[in-house]
Amino acid sequence: MTFIHDDFLLHSATARNLYHRYTAREPILDYHSHLPAADIASDRRFRDLTQIWLEGDHYKWRAMRANGTDERYCTGKATPYEKFLAWSRTVPFTLRNPLYHWTHFELKRYFGIDQLLDERNAKSIWEQANAMLADGGLTAQGILKKFRVRVQCTTDDPCDDLVHHRSINSAALGFRIYPTFRPDNALRVDLPEKFNAWVDRLERASNTEIRTLSTFLDALKQRHDLFHKHGGRLSDHGLDHCYSEPCSQSDATAIFDKTRKGHAAAPEEHEGFASFLMIFFGRLDAEKNWTKQLHLGALRSVNTRGLQELGPDTGFDCVGDWPQAQALVRYLDLLDSERALPKMVIYNLNPADNYIFAAAAGCFQEGPTAGKVQFGSAWWFLDQKEGMEWQLNALSNIGLLSGFIGMVTDSRSFMSFPRHEYFRRVLCNLLGNEMETGELPNDEELVGRTVRNICFENARQYLGLELPPENEVHGTGVRF
Ligand SMILES: [Zn+2]
Repeated sequence: MTFIHDDFLLHSATARNLYHRYTAREPILDYHSHLPAADIASDRRFRDLTQIWLEGDHYKWRAMRANGTDERYCTGKATPYEKFLAWSRTVPFTLRNPLYHWTHFELKRYFGIDQLLDERNAKSIWEQANAMLADGGLTAQGILKKFRVRVQCTTDDPCDDLVHHRSINSAALGFRIYPTFRPDNALRVDLPEKFNAWVDRLERASNTEIRTLSTFLDALKQRHDLFHKHGGRLSDHGLDHCYSEPCSQSDATAIFDKTRKGHAAAPEEHEGFASFLMIFFGRLDAEKNWTKQLHLGALRSVNTRGLQELGPDTGFDCVGDWPQAQALVRYLDLLDSERALPKMVIYNLNPADNYIFAAAAGCFQEGPTAGKVQFGSAWWFLDQKEGMEWQLNALSNIGLLSGFIGMVTDSRSFMSFPRHEYFRRVLCNLLGNEMETGELPNDEELVGRTVRNICFENARQYLGLELPPENEVHGTGVRF
């Protein structure tokens, strides 16, 4: 039997039945990713396996470094084939790291390759994969169709012009791509140079002169409106912890003015200003019935030399341990008190926070939306089998698994779509095994409906994103 076989991760007959019968053919609604819209609009072709698979992949770089590989083969000047060869030498040493599963899943699902990658077969796999990339089926758009993606959300700065989203959605490609409003730069009054350069960009993007806090807020609202016009229904914030210190408009104005003059806000001023804006953004989302996402707890760029030499997002980030509970529930409560709590997905990076996040979400449920505040899918370091099971178990024990809106790729790479399949297998394995032990009833219809909804339907109903019409999908979709 090959390593990635039809029943991979499915340890009982019932789990196998659930997966194959109820989830395997569900389409994908990938509501959080970092894929570049420009690549989708231009239907990017990938030159070789290194370009599509290794570039920008800090998970792989970390493993290569951990295995003693020189930086030249990770982010350095080695040739594409040398980098691929270095990765293939590393793979046998990644046993039990999720990379070992991802690697072989991806080789199989994209290229039909069943071999276990190592130094000996690197050359033949390189040639086989590159030939398929040259063939033209595995372009950016081809990949979205192959994996039956119906909706792909990107993550975008409020200043982005969204021109690529517009062009993609005006063509009948069988999927839609929507922007996500991510205004992290708007909070950075602690870094005046960065903040002011960004406000200047926002002035140009919104065609507004920004002299005061209120014109700043007007410009942000105008961009939020524009995202809405392009079909965007989600926002996202990447924060170490939630900001929820009460801060008046006059205090926020003073902090804004100070930063605009080039002076850094003190830590408590930064906290106050960021809190003021987070409430403002919460109101914007609630007004338009958007969903806000909070990604909380990453301790970024902890290796100073790595940051200086290679920049951010190169594999030097860590799990943080900020106390999350109080600030998070205060934020939800401030918005809820003024009837301005939008639908929300809260993701934690520290697994010790699983029950906190699941419990916090449970305190702010309210009809008519089922699962109004969602405990988000396992994120980043937790995006692996154990982390997914922890998230599913915490959600099941504290809240309602049945209303969960499911998995996202959260990826910069077009090679990450099998993450959805992997998640579905983990989900079906968990529930199928419990049906066999009698901890869940042997009611295939009930459990089958539950897992199927978690894969697509819950997200479709919850997020309210417009899907392509069915006839468009059938006209262009490639069956997988
Ligand atoms: Zn993300």
